[in-house]
Amino acid sequence: MSDVTSVVGGAWTPAVRFLRDAAGIARSVRLGMAMQGLVKSDLSPVTVADYAVQALAGKRLGEGWPDIPLVAEESSDGLRGEQGAPVLELVTRFVAKLEQEATPDLICAWIDRGGQDNASVFWTLDPIDGTKGYLRGGQYAVALALVRDGIPVWGGLACPGLAEDGSPDAMASGLLVVAGRGQGAWAIPLDQDPSDSASWRALKVSRCADPARARLLRSVERSHTNEAQIEEIAQRLGVRAEPVLMDSQAKYVSLAAGAGEILLRLLSPDRPDYVEKIWDHAAGWIALTEAGGRVTDMNGRDLDFSQGRLMRSNKGLIATNGVLHDAVVQAVRQVTGFS
Ligand code: AMP
Ligand code: MG
Repeated sequence: MSDVTSVVGGAWTPAVRFLRDAAGIARSVRLGMAMQGLVKSDLSPVTVADYAVQALAGKRLGEGWPDIPLVAEESSDGLRGEQGAPVLELVTRFVAKLEQEATPDLICAWIDRGGQDNASVFWTLDPIDGTKGYLRGGQYAVALALVRDGIPVWGGLACPGLAEDGSPDAMASGLLVVAGRGQGAWAIPLDQDPSDSASWRALKVSRCADPARARLLRSVERSHTNEAQIEEIAQRLGVRAEPVLMDSQAKYVSLAAGAGEILLRLLSPDRPDYVEKIWDHAAGWIALTEAGGRVTDMNGRDLDFSQGRLMRSNKGLIATNGVLHDAVVQAVRQVTGFS
């Protein structure tokens, strides 16, 4: 049994603190802006939270790891000039609650640390994964991973809408999950002190080996997947339960915590050429694999995080508790004809 401190303590402390603070920002933006009635298309809380979380990452990771580049989803382009000024002001206000020196110029510089290129070692961040869920009051996650030679070696996800057992619950305190290669995956409720190593618990996938009893997780957004094929696959496997619909990499965390068995992401008929982005999978990949699960693409191929921002060597995604993986890959092949 590995020691949780090797994953959340020592050098990793600033990264864990970032994730917790980022979840705090995301929550306060959603609540604060909704209260102030600022939810308009140009000042959407998604935009403000995305930028604010990425700015915090640029600042904190830049200080903690000045030589490691950050590959992240946003850039400050949309914040510059007259049009972006009101959003930039809001972003600055939210970040300044944690980083008092924040100014609009510094915010842009911190965000743009995320525009760096992949190197042999790099961070990758999705500041708000599941933006549609974030707006709807559903699931979302702040997802950060450190990738070395094409493999995530450390990852963390802050999931404010998950309960302690990994199931979705909007009223829950939220879950913070951290995993290190060969060191396991660990979770703590977001309202507990992460420096208290006794509060962390090891995550383990479900041991369910009977597809008929498996719980299937998929996107809420129909345009992100192929629902008809998923239904057919579920039928072939004999899955009886209704699929659980969740946004974001919170799905990986649910699987890692044993609150589901199968996650399917098939190519949407509207976007058959869609190529997945590394920040949408790196943190989820390590959390699930360290909890005993398996992740491949639709083909049964391992995920390749070494191709830049896009995962050009992969198509779609199959993640499971491990035991069920081969059966699911086979069913996906039969239904999609993909191989
Ligand atoms: P989910 O919440 O699991 O549906 O996934 C959210 C992620 O889906 C976002 O971060 C987007 O990067 C990604 N996404 C956007 N469009 C598509 C698409 N057509 N197919 C698959 N994923 C997409
Ligand atoms: Mg995303």
